Amino acid sequence: MSARSTSQALRLPSIDSLLRHPACHPLAERYGREALLASLRQLLDDLRQPVLAGQLDAVELTPQVLAGRAGERLASQHRSHVRRVFNLTGTVLHTNLGRALLPQEAIDAVQMAARYPLNLEFDLHSGKRGDRDDLIEGLIRELTGAEAVTVVNNNAAAVLLTLNSLGARKEGIISRGELIEIGGAFRIPDIMARAGVKLVEIGTTNRTHARDYEAAIGARSGLIMRVHASNYSIEGFTTRVPTVELARLAHQHGLPLLEDLGSGSLLDLTRWGLPAEPTVRQALLDGADIVTFSGDKLLGGPQAGLIVGRKALIARIKKNPLKRALRVDKLTLAALEAVLGLYRDPDRLAERLPSLRLLTRAQPDILAQAERLQPSLATRLGAGWSVSAVPALGMIGSGSQPVARLPSAALCLRANTSKRQRGRALLNLERALRALPIPVLGRIDDDALWLDVRQLDDEPAWLAQLEQLQVEGRAG
Ligand SMILES: *Cc1c(COP(=O)(O)O)cnc(C)c1O
Repeated sequence: MSARSTSQALRLPSIDSLLRHPACHPLAERYGREALLASLRQLLDDLRQPVLAGQLDAVELTPQVLAGRAGERLASQHRSHVRRVFNLTGTVLHTNLGRALLPQEAIDAVQMAARYPLNLEFDLHSGKRGDRDDLIEGLIRELTGAEAVTVVNNNAAAVLLTLNSLGARKEGIISRGELIEIGGAFRIPDIMARAGVKLVEIGTTNRTHARDYEAAIGARSGLIMRVHASNYSIEGFTTRVPTVELARLAHQHGLPLLEDLGSGSLLDLTRWGLPAEPTVRQALLDGADIVTFSGDKLLGGPQAGLIVGRKALIARIKKNPLKRALRVDKLTLAALEAVLGLYRDPDRLAERLPSLRLLTRAQPDILAQAERLQPSLATRLGAGWSVSAVPALGMIGSGSQPVARLPSAALCLRANTSKRQRGRALLNLERALRALPIPVLGRIDDDALWLDVRQLDDEPAWLAQLEQLQVEGRAG
């Protein structure tokens, strides 16, 4: 028997009659006839067995009901995989959640660049071919004091490109205390190897002296590298050669000093009460010849890797064919220029740059927000949960100041169950929060789920979806 006649035998509507039914018209309009047809076919296939087995009554499967089910399937199939979430983890620049949020100025610039042709590699003065780095070079020079600039896809690319351009087939000297691994399999020894630089590790994990560098310098040396300890800290009995001294040593031997700053702040963050991070300008003043840093960490812009420093070295880097492979696209450049433009007015930066605004929110303000939201969440979760608004500690994230904590505030959710069942209850709650239309991500710690509200900007959207929260294993 064909599928169609089976359907009829079971009194399920035929595909044709469903397609013609008014209940299906909006679906055809929205998703297209092909997708609707495929969805209905699949739906009827899936229903046939339960109807045959008597588990479902075909009479209840009216065209309206079937259209509703097909609509649900189509909606879930067509839902974008790139989804907005609420980052209530307490980590502001969260690598897995997209790091920095762009300011409106950058969003406008991205829109313009997406919509219209632009002078990406075209010099409007001469009418000749231009270089995309020229679009942001002036601003970056102004903000860092660098002689020259080039921009690539991310800081990992910046490090790879710089090492390969300046040190291929030569030796790169680096302290054992700086042989870092950061998330996503970025490890300095591996990057050096891929860049064709022979790693010469010197000193020890906790102490490296100027004499260690001196002893390693020889005929095959190509560069000295310094890497910022982004995501760990070495404390206690430690020694590190100051950049000024290391630069002097490198230059005595005609070697360039590279400094991978990671976060690389453009301004001294202590003016906003944040922990001190080395600035790019200072690293250059101290004598680093090339400094690399990320666009989407403390800078607060789009994902990008910035390479700044001496003109002659930047020229060599730009000539490397790898530069072409690692270059940034027009959307990134547009966003980057807009973000850098905001740095010209440091007094208003904390209002205009979202990451800085979030990082500098005062604890009393965050706590007041948590207290404001507490009743709605407590009501929604019911008697099974204790919900309290409490002070909490967050982090900058993205390898900035790994040990520093940001005084923040959170909604702390504890299950009113036996200790034995608490773990499961927390996982269920976590899953339910992730299942919301805008998934809510917190962190589990000390037998509780913490929702750090420092980054909860859009309170109406957050409250509006609360009524859809369905925690498994307990009522309402
Ligand atoms: C984050 C970081 C990188 C990698 O930067 P991405 O922009 O994530 O590619 C490299 N080096 C250091 C020291 C870092 O902190």
